Amino acid sequence: MGNQEYVQRDLSVVWHPCTQMKDHEWLPMIPIRRGDGVWLEDFDGKRYLDAISSWWVNLFGHRNPHINAALQEQLDTLEHVILAGFTHQAVIELSEQLVRITPAGLSRCFYADNGSSAIEIALKMSFHYWLNQGRPEKTKFITLQNSYHGETLGALAVGNVKLYKTTYGPLLMDTIEVPSPDCYYREPGESCADYSERMFQYMETALEEQADQVCAVIVEPLVQCAGSMRMYDPVYLKLLRDACDRHQVHLIADEIAVGFGRTGTLFACEQANISPDFLCLSKGLTGGYLPLSAVLTHDSVYQAFYGDYAEQRAFLHSHSYTGNALACRAALATLQLFEHSDVLKQNRARAAAMSEATAHFAEHPNVADVRQTGMITAIELAKNRDTREPFPWQERRGLRVYQHGLRNGVLLRPLGNVVYFMPPYVITEQQIQTMTRVGWEGILCAVQD
Ligand SMILES: *Cc1c(COP(=O)(O)O)cnc(C)c1O
Repeated sequence: MGNQEYVQRDLSVVWHPCTQMKDHEWLPMIPIRRGDGVWLEDFDGKRYLDAISSWWVNLFGHRNPHINAALQEQLDTLEHVILAGFTHQAVIELSEQLVRITPAGLSRCFYADNGSSAIEIALKMSFHYWLNQGRPEKTKFITLQNSYHGETLGALAVGNVKLYKTTYGPLLMDTIEVPSPDCYYREPGESCADYSERMFQYMETALEEQADQVCAVIVEPLVQCAGSMRMYDPVYLKLLRDACDRHQVHLIADEIAVGFGRTGTLFACEQANISPDFLCLSKGLTGGYLPLSAVLTHDSVYQAFYGDYAEQRAFLHSHSYTGNALACRAALATLQLFEHSDVLKQNRARAAAMSEATAHFAEHPNVADVRQTGMITAIELAKNRDTREPFPWQERRGLRVYQHGLRNGVLLRPLGNVVYFMPPYVITEQQIQTMTRVGWEGILCAVQD
């Protein structure tokens, strides 16, 4: 069977995520037969370079031999067991390793099976911690504008990308929104660090005025990925850590997208030399193989829930697949790949190649910004780059880049008017050239007329 038969069958029974299904009356659905490294191959034998790591999850390529072998062994041993009252080797080893490699002080791992659920857990744990400490008035969360933390109702409430949030507004808890340190809006001549530092005053004010009712501040360290890959300086995180301590408010770091080397360090928080109270991980955690998420926290949070059963302090949250053995094994194999070679160092060469290959993009009159943090490069298209007037969303310029990419064998999936490259860490310099060239040609097509 070729593409066409699968597409027909798919469109009669599958409802796809984040998709207006009617678009598929004219926009081709791509059925994938197999993966191989950075490549995806469809049922007609056409190959696509996965420039977005399949929604930011893949780190070491599709069908990675090392992860495959580890999973095969796990399959022959244990696929899954209830994690309440029971445990298994993979979850123990993974927890030991996560505690070892994450910022200092994080000493406990709680598991779920997707990023949004990890956010729900961090929010509930923070609130419940303060409740157990005799602070029931702490019920609110502070969030940055343009942030994204997932799609379940709690996670959606603490995010604020309007496209995903507005519709469900009536269902969502209230949050305290603070302007983002996103450097896209810095003044001409102002450094990113100066701008991010200047924007911290809004956070400081919000904490000064409302900390008594606030459980936690939640942020995506360094890059607001779903919010158009907007980036800010680590100085903001340093100031935030200090302010959260002064005001007795937790800091939740959502490293679901930026963890595991994406920003150049293993965790983005390292660049500010800080440790959050809750660290949420998912996406790259299993190398893009299986759904798994983890929330790490420190001992004083853990101790606030620890007591005799009758005290009713326990965290009674669970998911059926919590700590799934196959997923934990995929995560362990992924962490081994970070140990087998100096991935972060090799990524610095890849990041430099991406930077070099995209430098000339900035000269185009419809390119308002070319920005990069580690293995994420983003190009902001604009109708007028001087005024930063965006192309109207209805024109769907990014979609034209997507279509151009597919025709030319590269999977790009712009966020509105922002084209980005976020490839797996196994991409070669030559593949970087191909990826950025197709992206560039796509941009040239997309900004015409
Ligand atoms: C993807 C993402 C989430 C949500 O994770 P899901 O697994 O899609 O639920 C949360 N936060 C950030 C920063 C993300 O990028």
